[in-house]
Amino acid sequence: MDNKVSKRRRIVVLGAGESGYGAAVLAKDKGMEVFLSDSGTIATKYRECLEAESIPFEEGQHTMERILSADEIVKSPGIPSEAPIVVAAEAKNIPIISEIEFAGRYTTSKMVCITGSNGKTTTTMLIHHILQRGGIDASLAGNIGKSLAYQVARDPHEVYVVELSSFQLDNMYDFKANIAVLLNITPDHLDRYGYMMQNYVNAKFRILQNMTPTDTFIFWKDDPVISAQLRHINTEARMLPFSEHYEEGSEAYINAENKLIFNTPGTSMSMPRADLALNGLHNVFNSMAAGLSACVCEVSKEAIRVALSDFSGVEHRLEFVADIDGVRWINDSKATNVNSCYYALEAMTTPTVLILGGKDKGNDYSEILPLVKEKVKAIVAMGKDNTKIVEFFSSHVATIADTHSLEDAVAACHNLSKAGDTVLLSPCCASFDLFSSYEDRGRKYKEAVKAIK
Ligand code: ADP
Repeated sequence: MDNKVSKRRRIVVLGAGESGYGAAVLAKDKGMEVFLSDSGTIATKYRECLEAESIPFEEGQHTMERILSADEIVKSPGIPSEAPIVVAAEAKNIPIISEIEFAGRYTTSKMVCITGSNGKTTTTMLIHHILQRGGIDASLAGNIGKSLAYQVARDPHEVYVVELSSFQLDNMYDFKANIAVLLNITPDHLDRYGYMMQNYVNAKFRILQNMTPTDTFIFWKDDPVISAQLRHINTEARMLPFSEHYEEGSEAYINAENKLIFNTPGTSMSMPRADLALNGLHNVFNSMAAGLSACVCEVSKEAIRVALSDFSGVEHRLEFVADIDGVRWINDSKATNVNSCYYALEAMTTPTVLILGGKDKGNDYSEILPLVKEKVKAIVAMGKDNTKIVEFFSSHVATIADTHSLEDAVAACHNLSKAGDTVLLSPCCASFDLFSSYEDRGRKYKEAVKAIK
């Protein structure tokens, strides 16, 4: 640990979610003076834990003076950089870091880090599944499961598979991934990046910082945004690109016989695409990224094949709900942007009734229009205000139902579908107009579908 770091004894943690609580515990265990501040209400679970750990905290406010006396601040990724407390800390030159950055200082475990606009959770869980199948002591961290900081403090593992959002990457400086996976970059969260795509791209590429020749960068070669940015990036990391079809340099791709090929310096293997547990082209890419990560971790070919074919999938991501009278109902509630819906539609093989709508984040629906024209027989708009969806699609889709509740939307889908069709909830939008979260939306959808019988 360098001197600069060891002298930072007074730590303030902003935000008392999973990451904030974990950072506070780690700071305490490292003998620092720690104070946690949350401007909202702290969930009972964390409040009780903080009390049990005797970690001082406040909620419903940020006491400026106390916070600004910190040597260093660990900020929850949910707090935007324009928040007054963050602005004030920056003005005082107090270093602000993320929980991952903080935790990374106190472990030498291997870090497999995953970022991208879509597919992070699926790929993170898939990598974790393969590594475990390969007998590696791997644990999930980042946006999933227990925070990295908590695990480093109390429950250490050999390998961490860490899902990283752009917001976590924003406050990472010295942290180094041993394996970095960049899945794709499409517009998202631009409201947090001054509506400048380049700022968001730069945040995603922070995953590469500090990497050395013994580290590996796995990325989707077909992505135009990634390719363009790579022309301006100097990295020492070993590059393992994957692509849909073979191109020079691709270390994973689909061959003419519809087999997935992995061809890394250490591993050469193939498996039929049809054996993959997850459907859809996007999941082929996720499987390539996960398989390449496992090759680098020296998991056996057999374990990789088995794990890619018996992974049970992740709730709310193209999740099969039920077959009712020959209609397949699918829950893709996590599709909160247009690109994720694009890939859900790409995976559809039967006429589809598509549920769209919710809180629009500035969506441009033209990206899905060709697939909608090809596969969608009816759209059921489900949101407080469906005007944009109805106006955009009305000249392209024969039937559009305008609904304002989940019950009405499911009833409309039931009426509009017949045996052989698929009903797909892949809404392109955030859920907050009618639901508390995408999980809430997905669960209520599944309950309503199962109640049809
Ligand atoms: P994230 O954690 O990045 O939000 P998830 O794995 O939770 O990603 O998936 C979010 C949504 O994106 C789901 O609707 C899923 O079907 C879709 N999706 C998953 N992987 C990809 C991918 N590689 N490219 C585009 N969309 C994807």
